Amino acid sequence: MNYQSTRGHDVPQSFSEILLGGLAPDGGLYLPKQYPQITAEELEAWRKLPYADLAFEVLSRFCDDIPAEDLRALTRKTYTADVYCNARAGDNTADITPLRTLGEEGGTKLQLLGLSNGPTLAFKDMAMQLLGNLFEYALKRAGLKLNILGATSGDTGSAAEYAMRGKEGIRVFMLSPHRKMSAFQTAQMFSLQDPNIFNIAIEGVFDDAQDIVKAVSNDHAFKARQRIGTVNSINWARVVAQVVYYFKGWLLATSGPGQKVSFCVPSGNFGNVCAGHIARMMGLPIDKLVVATNENDVLDEFFRTGTYRVRTSAQTYHTSSPSMDISKASNFERFVFDLLGQDADKLVALFSDVDTKGGFDLAGTPEFARIGQFGFVSGRSSHQDRLATIRDVNQRYGVTIDTHTADGVKVAREYLQPGVPMVVLETALPAKFADTIHEALGHEPERPAAFDGIEKLPQRFEVMPADADSVKAYIAQHTGL
Ligand SMILES: *Cc1c(COP(=O)(O)O)cnc(C)c1O
Repeated sequence: MNYQSTRGHDVPQSFSEILLGGLAPDGGLYLPKQYPQITAEELEAWRKLPYADLAFEVLSRFCDDIPAEDLRALTRKTYTADVYCNARAGDNTADITPLRTLGEEGGTKLQLLGLSNGPTLAFKDMAMQLLGNLFEYALKRAGLKLNILGATSGDTGSAAEYAMRGKEGIRVFMLSPHRKMSAFQTAQMFSLQDPNIFNIAIEGVFDDAQDIVKAVSNDHAFKARQRIGTVNSINWARVVAQVVYYFKGWLLATSGPGQKVSFCVPSGNFGNVCAGHIARMMGLPIDKLVVATNENDVLDEFFRTGTYRVRTSAQTYHTSSPSMDISKASNFERFVFDLLGQDADKLVALFSDVDTKGGFDLAGTPEFARIGQFGFVSGRSSHQDRLATIRDVNQRYGVTIDTHTADGVKVAREYLQPGVPMVVLETALPAKFADTIHEALGHEPERPAAFDGIEKLPQRFEVMPADADSVKAYIAQHTGL
């Protein structure tokens, strides 16, 4: 399987070659040259597979340069009921991503696919845990070391740390704004005692931490010498790991070949729903892919009107579904490439307009007219919608959902079709967003047992000024190179 860049760079790359990299050399994102096709017979044969073996089947279609037995060992090590142990009482933890039916609405089943039962209680664990094992494997094979540098306001950083803790050849340097994360998020990250995890609390806000990461990454000599890498959401292996649970969700929601299922995806950087798009391109019978946004509605605007208009940071709202607070959607380019019929020249023109004019407009073009063929529809949700939905789902079905999942349920209800199950991806557990749950329900959400008293554990972190040189000096002292 060879990979190409969305911007046309045409030196074929293998899965292992792009695994550790980020953007392609021309600034584009990697995609396979062709999407592997799965037949109805193969799908039926996959019904009986445990999640880890389903993951092997899907991933092996994309990475043919890792020996099958090694890849199978990696998926079996990753997708265990021990790692994904935080499911609600009554859900089948052995499914890894259990499907729960909320109820009948609009002539169909409204269902939740539980993607947030991993160590950090959010769906990013689904891909990141695999990435940790893949990185360790690939680095060992190549005799290399990697130092992951990132900035976080909470979620991504903890998913990365929990994936990379204790991994041979890998160290993580994670910057976060000092005293600006919730007590729960801070405890999740700072209580890790693994010697390969370095928490750096920056005296500033998230943007200061982000700027330092950019400054360090722009020092190419330093970056190369210290073997600095990232694990951001454009990483191809992360996207492809997410393809697996669309297959699992479809298999759990159907009983036979050809049945259609719709998925509703609480979206920010378009990584999650991009995986759904890929599953659909592989032949999975998905009817609609419903993109749900919060008040930061860049994506909803595009799917409704054809206009893609990125926001400035001043135009980006801080909402109660904070993991969807984005100004532009970093994985969106992958879908646009397919929408343009994989025409890299057209894509380069559009994305240079993003840089120079802040966006592009496909309204009235033949490309945008084709959008229905890809199954995409969209909607947005506000803070009031979120509260009302959390309350309603709690009262009607006795289930407490988190704020992001609530955005999903709110928008999913606008697209129910009789006879087509609507599967909403549950992207976080409510325990992570206790304040908003309290605002909606008047009480705190339940916490999975493993997190009892987490705020009282000893914490390990370094406080540093918002200054790139100090951070560089700290990294250089601690990479062990
Ligand atoms: C990251 C995240 C999202 C958004 O996912 P994208 O892949 O960026 O679209 C939604 N919900 C939660 C809880 C998240 O952590």
